[in-house]
Amino acid sequence: MSEVPLETDVVVVGSGVSGLSAALEAAQGGASVTVFEKQPSIGGTSNFFEGIFAVGSAMQKEKYIAYSPDQAFKNFMEYNHWRVDARLVRSLINRSADTIDWLKTRGVEFLEVTINMPDAPRTYHVVKGRGQAVVKALALSAKEKGVAIRVASPVKQILRGKRGPSGVVVEFDGKDTEVACRVVVIASGGYANNAEWIKKYAGLELGRTVTPMGNIGKTGDGIRMAWEMGAAAEGMGVLHLIRVAPFSPEFPFMNTVEGAAIQPVLWVDPKGERFCDEGIAYYDTSLGNVNSRYPQGYTFCLFDDTIKKRFIEKGVFRGMGTVVPPGCKLHDLNEQLQHFLSLNSREFFGADSIEELALKMEVDSQVLKTTVQQYNTFCAQGRDAEFAKDPEYLIPLNGPRFYAAKARTCFLGTMGGVKINHRTEVVDQYGSPIAGLYAVGLDAGGLHAESYSMRDTSGIASAFAVISGRVAGENASKYLTG
Ligand SMILES: Cc1cc2nc3c(=O)[nH]c(=O)nc-3n(C[C@H](O)[C@H](O)[C@H](O)COP(=O)(O)OP(=O)(O)OC[C@H]3O[C@@H](n4cnc5c(N)ncnc54)[C@H](O)[C@@H]3O)c2cc1C
Repeated sequence: MSEVPLETDVVVVGSGVSGLSAALEAAQGGASVTVFEKQPSIGGTSNFFEGIFAVGSAMQKEKYIAYSPDQAFKNFMEYNHWRVDARLVRSLINRSADTIDWLKTRGVEFLEVTINMPDAPRTYHVVKGRGQAVVKALALSAKEKGVAIRVASPVKQILRGKRGPSGVVVEFDGKDTEVACRVVVIASGGYANNAEWIKKYAGLELGRTVTPMGNIGKTGDGIRMAWEMGAAAEGMGVLHLIRVAPFSPEFPFMNTVEGAAIQPVLWVDPKGERFCDEGIAYYDTSLGNVNSRYPQGYTFCLFDDTIKKRFIEKGVFRGMGTVVPPGCKLHDLNEQLQHFLSLNSREFFGADSIEELALKMEVDSQVLKTTVQQYNTFCAQGRDAEFAKDPEYLIPLNGPRFYAAKARTCFLGTMGGVKINHRTEVVDQYGSPIAGLYAVGLDAGGLHAESYSMRDTSGIASAFAVISGRVAGENASKYLTG
């Protein structure tokens, strides 16, 4: 096992794309850099993302996509009601196109620029090989620039010098070791696995009313250490919420049945009543938000044989990543349904009547029958008198077989914690920067007011991770030489 360098200019806490981007830019500026990663392998949640936001990129220009940085900025600020840091948002948007080129230069390939929402601007630059390919490319470039990367080495404390950090305590090979440094970049990916904080700041119960996906060991270490250094808090309690149906370890990630279950047909709450315009199916944030209103942690998606036939023969309405593009015909849906039903899971059910389905879902059968009857009337009339859903999605449920998937409230990460300025410098409660301390990616607050903004800036979480990392690395090297 390699040794830990006992002295380095910059310590980066975490090896997701935010940390690796920071490391790379700081090294590019001439600093000696060490990245410490808590887990035995690098990349964290960043291994999973699929698309990165950018506006004004070469790919968009080639396709004549007329969406300007000004428009993206205005839309983003409007969505967040200006309860975010406008300078931070502007710098993120302004640097997004250049960041696609920056990633390309480091070997990242892009497949297309697209969007899964009907009326949203095409900002989602799909990466070949998902985030894992970006992590690999950045780690390789960082190593070429002399960056030391150490895995299985959690940073536990930042040591305080006269002006900002003087070092960190890192656990390496079972021992606590002090590493001297002048700059610390906090890039530890938030607190998605910290049940106490999720309860305290988001009011949700981890594993019961909300379940994290793609996050391991995220206890908010970086946020805690920044606070201990005098940082102000910003953005605690904002989760990147989504709704997943069916969700359980026995079902593979993004499967055909999920592709069918997430469609805007008929959804009911744990009582068996409709609760929203299912047309919001395209907008993950709205889905996660509406689902999180239910303390049970779930709602249901219903469909029947007629709807199933439509998905097989004509295709689905809403896509699911690049796995199930919009209009995709779910050829293997019958086989997958049979397989899922044979698991006798409590997350996905099939029945020959609404009464039987209600029994399996543990909802009042009379309530569910009334809901389905009323919904079928809306379908016959071509008008959703309850939630004004687009008539295109009004397809009645007549059987003979009925299906229900439990739709769980899940989240892809927490989005905030440490207050920063647009240079990614960590600031105290008076807005004064703490010298030598930076926070990036999911540890940084100021970008999301209360919900993840995805409609007009799809892919902004990964873009923010890379861009905030780059900005931190650049400013760190200026700080060291200044
Ligand atoms: C399934 C899934 C799909 C997604 N798809 C998209 C998408 O398509 N587009 C998009 O924009 N976003 C997407 N996201 C969100 C996006 O992946 C994240 O917002 C982004 O990658 C976060 O990067 P990060 O560097 O801040 O955190 P991370 O990538 O999580 O990196 C943080 C690292 O810090 C490490 N760490 C924690 N504590 C310590 C410590 N004490 N010492 C050392 N290391 C520590 C962690 O182990 C982790 O490796 C998705 C997320 C998931 C889960």
